[in-house]
Amino acid sequence: MNETVQNGAVVSLAYTLKLSNGEVIDYTEADDPLEYLHGADNIIPGLEKELVGLSVGAQKEVRVSPAEGYGEYDPEDVEEVDVAEFPSGMSLKLGMVVAIPDSDGNVEEAIVSEITKDSVTLDFNHPLAGKPLMFSVEVVGIREATAEELEHGHPHSLEMEEFDDFEDDFDEEDDFDDELEEFGEDDEDDTTKTV
Ligand code: ZN
Repeated sequence: MNETVQNGAVVSLAYTLKLSNGEVIDYTEADDPLEYLHGADNIIPGLEKELVGLSVGAQKEVRVSPAEGYGEYDPEDVEEVDVAEFPSGMSLKLGMVVAIPDSDGNVEEAIVSEITKDSVTLDFNHPLAGKPLMFSVEVVGIREATAEELEHGHPHSLEMEEFDDFEDDFDEEDDFDDELEEFGEDDEDDTTKTV
């Protein structure tokens, strides 16, 4: 029985995530918490390490530096692309997320950060890169992970059962992006286009 947050524990968290200007960008409530497997890189390292040893009911304010969050902002990780390289008829908007395949067949997501008549600027930095993050967290549950959860490297909550069937069929358990899940995958699906 895990009484405190430690490796191999499935932890349920209620949290509010703010930027340093106070803007709330993500939160979960105590009755619908984020569940993660501690020690399996499910959440950003700067938050995970600050939760070690906490008990159910514990609350904590955690400030995460960019280096331990989504990385420093890299001004080189921006590309200006000829507008003609985008499919004609594709309506490009500032701030939209586009999926860009590279020569190895991997798909990278970028944010459209500037549009001129002839060119489109794509920013490949994570939207939270370079930003200090302020978490207010409360531990609302701790339980021991099952052997299967430890093997998969993520918790199996009730809602995950369908996903897990998918996973068993296709063996693609690690192909989904935790960050996107946390920061509004649903919203982004509407604007994500493959170029
Ligand atoms: Zn699984």
